[in-house]
Amino acid sequence: GPAPESAAPAVDYLESHNRTFDLFINGEWTKPSSKQYMESHNPANKELLAKFAEADEKDVDKAVKAAKEALPKWAALSGFERAKYLYAIARQIQKHSRLFAVLETLDNGKPIRETRDIDIPIVVRHFYHHAGWAKLRDTELRDYKEVGVIGQIIPWNFPLMMLAWKVAPALAMGNTVVLKPAEYTSLTALLFAEICEKVGLPKGVFNIVTGKGTVAGTALVNHKDVNKVAFTGSTNVGKIIRREIAGSGKKISLELGGKSPFIVFEDADIDSAIEGIVDAIWFNQGQVCCAGSRLLVQESIAEKFYAKLKDRMSNLRVGNPMDKAIDMGAIVDEAQFKTIDKLVKLGISEGCEIYQAKNAVPKNGFFYPPTLFTDVSTSATIAQEEIFGPVLVAMTFRSHNEAVALANNSRYGLAASVWTENINLALDVAPKIKAGMVWINCTNQMDASAGFGGYRESGFGREGGKEGLYEYVKLKIEDEFSSKPIV
Ligand code: NAD
Repeated sequence: GPAPESAAPAVDYLESHNRTFDLFINGEWTKPSSKQYMESHNPANKELLAKFAEADEKDVDKAVKAAKEALPKWAALSGFERAKYLYAIARQIQKHSRLFAVLETLDNGKPIRETRDIDIPIVVRHFYHHAGWAKLRDTELRDYKEVGVIGQIIPWNFPLMMLAWKVAPALAMGNTVVLKPAEYTSLTALLFAEICEKVGLPKGVFNIVTGKGTVAGTALVNHKDVNKVAFTGSTNVGKIIRREIAGSGKKISLELGGKSPFIVFEDADIDSAIEGIVDAIWFNQGQVCCAGSRLLVQESIAEKFYAKLKDRMSNLRVGNPMDKAIDMGAIVDEAQFKTIDKLVKLGISEGCEIYQAKNAVPKNGFFYPPTLFTDVSTSATIAQEEIFGPVLVAMTFRSHNEAVALANNSRYGLAASVWTENINLALDVAPKIKAGMVWINCTNQMDASAGFGGYRESGFGREGGKEGLYEYVKLKIEDEFSSKPIV
């Protein structure tokens, strides 16, 4: 095949920073008070990529103070003025999209084809979309005002996209932000901060504290001057955060894990459904909160479907994420790789039948083969726990009702995908599934204009759409009676 894409511009960028990145506080690149830096490695070859500052409580306090000071002026700008900054940010990301895409791929291990064609375009679209809403706030949402200082904590699976989903609506609605990226995927967030500098975003409106969840994250969540916490990550940490801020009067939104069903009825277009499931579970190596990780197939077609699926799996290319022809890149890091492997071994010990494609996988990085479990009982751990890797768990059903019952047999409720050529059946089943998003004959569809989010242990609150804006505003009259903490 063609030679892999060149990483040269990103390497130049990293070298020009001595591969060491500080905190971005009040528009200044600031050394961490602890003087500690964490190392981030490229998961595709384990080479050292960069060092990120480890913020502690003092740094977080500085960042929150900066955000608090910047708030009154920023919130008082007309929506039109704030929109100008968001448009400028969108244009700058577009201009540097190649650098963003390569950095994201080196940092996270996801295929360049995905960062280039999916992650970065969605990010740009998100800023353009919310620039429009910044202007509309003055008319469509005139009974509302900003919430204040927002503490945002994001995961590593879509580093820049998760930043965009949080930062764009927050700034558009007149809030100021302190963001904590995931430990080892902070590169694109820091490049984003450089863009904020370039477009002249007022100092303190957007701040970054890189570092550990249990240190910087906890300090941010618990800071008294943070008015809202927006979190995307694991259900476990989401629960910790919710407990920590209970009674504080802070607003909160949580985007957590999932175990989303992918339901194939016997009359489905099988070839399309096969391509759909490839996208649903092997996109981003399965490290996707809304991944279609539970395949539910009607019994009458199950054997044929599994045979076709195995055949398709054997053709998936796993390898160097910088290779444009690759289908799957590397798992984000060793810890995640081990978690996946442990759950797969558990699946085997629980008696589930495993199929792993024998695709050649490079030796020097964290590459995991596409994996399918069939014959899985609903009570098996792998049928209930989020694996967050390229592992598909399959079950069969006979009746439509059984399909719905199986789909809802989960503590999560983020997304679902329904495949049938019978539109009446699709429209009957879709609303019966308890999930934030239900896709019909497609999967992984998302847009800035549609609210994304879950039910049950997948969290609450929406990102995108008009609903998403309400996460970052409060009724003006609320100030009169709820400005004080409840306890
Ligand atoms: P994680 O919960 O381990 O970490 C997420 C973020 O929280 C990181 O920045 C981490 O440093 C920070 N953190 C960790 N402990 C903390 C604490 N005690 N207090 C404050 N912050 C803390 O999750 P992860 O492994 O980075 O991400 C994977 C998870 O994210 C998966 O469960 C996935 O489903 C979920 N996710 C959900 C969505 C969604 O929109 N629903 C999107 C992407 C990922």
